[in-house]
Amino acid sequence: MSEKTYTITIKEQCPDVAPVEIKVNILSEGGQIWIQPQGFGEKCAMDDEGWPVGIEIWQGRLRLIVFDDINREEPQIIDLERARETARMRCNWCKKEIEQAESIKWKNLPFCSDACLDACRAAQ
Ligand SMILES: [Zn+2]
Repeated sequence: MSEKTYTITIKEQCPDVAPVEIKVNILSEGGQIWIQPQGFGEKCAMDDEGWPVGIEIWQGRLRLIVFDDINREEPQIIDLERARETARMRCNWCKKEIEQAESIKWKNLPFCSDACLDACRAAQ
């Protein structure tokens, strides 16, 4: 099993507050990635030994594992399936990319315009 650790420094991004830097270890192990910001950990790990953020594939789905509270054992699982590039919403007729809010639905399929909807219905 290959294991590799990188260390990088992340920096405060807001220009209006005092600059802060945190050293972050990134571990690639067993087909997962784990992230360890210095001073942050997990309930079930000793200080300096926790890896509170992970990324993995589980049952075919890419997900983040985030231990966002050192006093809680259960992590938050963030499923990234909806971030897939193939999940972009496209017009069912012209395939143009569309916003959820501006889509016209017919038989639960999205369309970008009435013209596309009409064209699709005419072709049925
Ligand atoms: Zn269209």
